[in-house]
Amino acid sequence: VSDINAASVTTPAITNHYPLCAKHLQTNMIASSHLRHEGRQQLSLFLKGIGLSVDEALKFWSHSFTSGPHAMTPERFNKEFKYNIRHTYGLEGARTNYKPWDCARILLRPLPGKNEYHGCPYRDLSVDALTTQLGEMGVGAVDMKGVLNDVERKDYTVACTRVFEITHNVQAEHIGHPNLYFDRSRQLER
Ligand code: SF4
Repeated sequence: VSDINAASVTTPAITNHYPLCAKHLQTNMIASSHLRHEGRQQLSLFLKGIGLSVDEALKFWSHSFTSGPHAMTPERFNKEFKYNIRHTYGLEGARTNYKPWDCARILLRPLPGKNEYHGCPYRDLSVDALTTQLGEMGVGAVDMKGVLNDVERKDYTVACTRVFEITHNVQAEHIGHPNLYFDRSRQLER
């Protein structure tokens, strides 16, 4: 039985394995009880990729959008957003079985605007915000320099792989997909 469900995907046991892009999306969604279109696509496909079933996904998204200070009503969620989630799982419209986006694809999508959290945080966050987030993930001052150098060179996936290595205390092959980051991290735990 999968341990990935609507409740577990907000616990550290699971989110500790998220790359920064997924953490950033999910944290901001929960804080604002919302996520705009691009962000919904990116996070929803990532979650599908880690094994969240469509039923659990609907529970997770509906709970996130209908609780907290900016909550919407369940009726509005069902009317405006349920279709979108089911569509991601290939259950509506053209019934395409969409694959989770890799880093290259994420980096090609439109940049996040105000109140948007999709994209790659290594590219899209200010150096200050990125430093804070990485500090919270356990990246120390010396290692931080290396990561910020990668970012300056626009080697975002290299920066992300380096953070994987630092936070897992291993040498890792290059990571170019958020779901690969998650899977490798989980494997190391086993
Ligand atoms: Fe996500 Fe890829 Fe950016 Fe890492 S490099 S944060 S996995 S988009």
